[in-house]
Amino acid sequence: MKKEIVLILLKPDVQAKGLTGYIIDHFDRTGLELIAMKIVKVSKVLAEAHYRHLKGQPFFGEIVNYLQGNLHGRQKVVALVYGGPKAVSVCRRVAGATNPEDAHLKSVRGSVGRVTTKGVYENMVHVSSDQKEARREVSLWFSPDEIGKDIYPTKIETMKTYSKKVWK
Ligand code: GDP
Repeated sequence: MKKEIVLILLKPDVQAKGLTGYIIDHFDRTGLELIAMKIVKVSKVLAEAHYRHLKGQPFFGEIVNYLQGNLHGRQKVVALVYGGPKAVSVCRRVAGATNPEDAHLKSVRGSVGRVTTKGVYENMVHVSSDQKEARREVSLWFSPDEIGKDIYPTKIETMKTYSKKVWK
């Protein structure tokens, strides 16, 4: 069976509520391969790029704010890449419906997500919707160096001037 790639984001309320391990456990138990994982401080530019397909929706500003952590005082997202057969549908089933109130009670969103009195869908996780989106999203959140294997084609670019932060 053809292997798929999927990007999972644990939104900032996951860490604020101490649910990081609980939620990763749900995805890990699927038997899919955990290919990469990191913690990211999310800029407005990154959050807007991630949700670019929803620009124009009335809740666009709200989801950008949510992903940046401005609603929960934790400016951190855990980003994971899983791979394996039917990875997208398997992980979307684990996540549950977009609206936590419609989500199956044993799904992540159904068990720990909520809709706030202000109408924010605090649905805790993002899961790529298909292979095209997964490639766009993985490329946005990870560099090839951060992923143990070349899941997508890569190229070598030689930089003329290049500086980066290193340990002193
Ligand atoms: P997903 O693939 O299930 O995450 O859903 P989408 O990509 O369509 O939407 C992205 C995010 O926008 C969702 O995870 C929700 O946080 C939020 N969202 C989507 N639809 C609605 C809506 O109708 N109302 C509100 N308040 N938020 C929404």
